[in-house]
Amino acid sequence: MSDLVLQGLTKRFGEFTAVDALDLTVPAGSFFALLGPSGCGKTTTLRMAAGLEEPTAGRILLGDRDITGLRPHQRPVNTVFQSYALFPHLDVAGNVAFGLRRRGVRDHAAEVARMLELVQLDGLGRRRPAQLSGGQQQRVALARALVNRPQVLLLDEPLGALDLTLTRRMQVELKRIQTEVGITFVHVTHDQEEAMTMADTVAVMNAGRIEQLGRPAELYEFPQTPFVANFLGQSNLLAAEVVERGAGYVAVRAYDNRYSVPAGRCRAAGPAAYLGVRPEKVHLAEAAAQVPAGHDSVAGVVTDWSYVGVGNRYLVRAPWGTELAVFSPNTGEGYYPPLGGEVVVHWDPAHAFLLDREPGAG
Ligand code: ATP
Repeated sequence: MSDLVLQGLTKRFGEFTAVDALDLTVPAGSFFALLGPSGCGKTTTLRMAAGLEEPTAGRILLGDRDITGLRPHQRPVNTVFQSYALFPHLDVAGNVAFGLRRRGVRDHAAEVARMLELVQLDGLGRRRPAQLSGGQQQRVALARALVNRPQVLLLDEPLGALDLTLTRRMQVELKRIQTEVGITFVHVTHDQEEAMTMADTVAVMNAGRIEQLGRPAELYEFPQTPFVANFLGQSNLLAAEVVERGAGYVAVRAYDNRYSVPAGRCRAAGPAAYLGVRPEKVHLAEAAAQVPAGHDSVAGVVTDWSYVGVGNRYLVRAPWGTELAVFSPNTGEGYYPPLGGEVVVHWDPAHAFLLDREPGAG
């Protein structure tokens, strides 16, 4: 097993750069997600890795073997697409056996049975694709790709056509299957929850580039750019100026208020920053209440409230007009203010972070 390495990988369509000098290493055996909004270049990157699209520049390596010039079937790489592209005239077993037959493997019944068991379709080998549900067809596509024992499996929005309940189930299934077979999975999705649920490592893509790469918790807890802060969940981002870089902390001024973050949570190199704090990391208190010692705070008025089962979502308008999002879990404890109520939003500075307002500044 080898790492999949993309070096300066670039794809231009005419004047338009879809993938912009991507440098990326996907560790062997990992479940890797390429996450980004529609049009950011995820599929184009995957198609280049599969050999379906020729790079304008750059190289693709498996370990130290350069596979950039190899045709798709010469690469130890398989792809599962959103449209399962099953052969309608072949039954399930025939679809799964297809790759083996093409390679001249004659005695494939045991291997096909093993694959069907892996994707939990045992007993359905004789069915035609038209007699299967969407989720079952997706599993056949997966088994058909895995039976070739590729080093790398590329998955292009493979759950995109399934309903929400089935999608959630297949996310857990895919993770189980990846752990079981140990093959490197590169999964393309625009769904941040999907990426975070399944992947060991997530690369967040924006406009042909990687904005940040890391473990899901790392990306969520400490995003590096405003784009990542807002693409993964929701962030309150207050425009702030850095006023002091002290021992162990960085202080900022935002609309006459002074706030701080631990130095280790500051990614702002320049003076123009965003102070970020997630909605579930802030708390509400009555206007007159004492906030806990050491907490930073802002006073405001509740402008919106919604009950979402697991908790309550509030919008609180600060005196300067910015609206802060607050999520209060439904623990039965805590303060649940009315619409129009005057409140204080407060948080432990250890959970805040600082970003450059203009990435690359400083
Ligand atoms: P989605 O989630 O919508 O599939 P994506 O992130 O996978 O989006 P790509 O399909 O890689 O995005 O496309 C990246 C950009 O390149 C888009 O702006 C797209 O319009 C453009 N593009 C893709 N293929 C071609 C092509 N063959 N010719 C011209 N432009 C293309």
